[in-house]
Amino acid sequence: MKLTVIFPISLGLICISAVGQTQDVSTWTKKNLTSLVETYVHLHKNPELSFEEQETAAYVAAQLKSFGYKVTERVGGHGVVAVLENGEGPSVLVRADLDALPIVEQTDLPYASKKKVKDAEGNEVGTMHACGHDIHMTCWLGAAKYLAENKNLWQGKAIFLGQPAEERGSGARAMLDDKLFERFGKPDFAVALHCSATMPTGVVSVRGGYVMANVDSVDIKIKGRGGHGAYPHTTIDPIVIAAKLVMDLQTIVSREVKPIESAVVTVGSIHAGTKHNIVPDECTLQITVRCYSDEVRKQLLAAIERKAKAAADSAGAPEPEIKISEGTPSLKNDEGLATRLRGVFESKFGKDNVETTEAEMGGEDFSHFGREGVPSVMFRLGTIEPRQYHFWTAQKASPPSLHSSKYAPEPQGSIQMGVDAMSWGLLDLLSNDGK
Ligand code: ZN
Ligand code: ZN
Repeated sequence: MKLTVIFPISLGLICISAVGQTQDVSTWTKKNLTSLVETYVHLHKNPELSFEEQETAAYVAAQLKSFGYKVTERVGGHGVVAVLENGEGPSVLVRADLDALPIVEQTDLPYASKKKVKDAEGNEVGTMHACGHDIHMTCWLGAAKYLAENKNLWQGKAIFLGQPAEERGSGARAMLDDKLFERFGKPDFAVALHCSATMPTGVVSVRGGYVMANVDSVDIKIKGRGGHGAYPHTTIDPIVIAAKLVMDLQTIVSREVKPIESAVVTVGSIHAGTKHNIVPDECTLQITVRCYSDEVRKQLLAAIERKAKAAADSAGAPEPEIKISEGTPSLKNDEGLATRLRGVFESKFGKDNVETTEAEMGGEDFSHFGREGVPSVMFRLGTIEPRQYHFWTAQKASPPSLHSSKYAPEPQGSIQMGVDAMSWGLLDLLSNDGK
């Protein structure tokens, strides 16, 4: 797991002949690490919730302008698009997400967020970059600055996209709907990194194919006929119907979906009733539905609807109300691009420091760019301080996860590797050979 960096001899020579001095990525990052960590600390102390990222957007926009990028703000909400053109060549979109979560930070870090904000309902909530989007932005700004200072090493068009509202699964769609590609051009590739709380710093992971799931939310209202709990024969009990439905739903994944496909149907909330001796009028359920393929997605949603109607019908109840909220489409990393980036990472960091990402059932709206036909890859960045990582793994346990109030990435190591990996990847993609 030790970080070993192999310097690219050919790149170094090109660089020396062009500008008279080598600007190796890792050396550059080391030189800039203090100011990058300052950027990180600022972002970490000042998190903003989804749809509220105005100060974060202004902060990153100002930095990108100072690097020489042409910056457009307020794209699809608080989205930022920064473009640097550098002659003929491919175009690459690099995405970072701007938003934080409504969580009270419970780390003891000197730069822990103490920020309180109002949520959409007007309640005061703590806010924290518990998903590591502050690390994402810092690495993204680092790579943007590296490209701006080393224009002799690449050609084409770099599009740095700061996306709002990732945690609500809607910012990428909003930016695309705001004519992102019509206004700034459709890129040849899209890349992003995401923090991992299960890998040490100095390690990245990548894989082609599905890595994150389709996510849908289903709300079901079972309608019964309320009455006295002592006279059940005069009622239609929605609680019994709901209980039957919860059990019926378990057979969708176990009996209907092809065993080699992945799927989850979780009833996360069920509510009805007010008192022991009252049969309520209705019972509501909230369900999260996850899978990878679009065919299974359709199958799951249709089965939930069928079973809900059947459960109600079997009790002589009216048809239930069923609301499906379209969530985030699954994230499928482009196989060719994943293989290419793996090759770059392995040659720069050594095979021991490049793992294969484990596919998950979480959601990521970076998937929208791939769905628009742009070969895309999101790779993972280890963020846990190595001694901490070994402390946890020795106990067969995991460090605090993403979205935990105790998630604490180690800034120096995470940022060094994040900037290095993203910059090496971009130098490879922004070359005229092998587009
Ligand atoms: Zn998150
Ligand atoms: Zn995230």
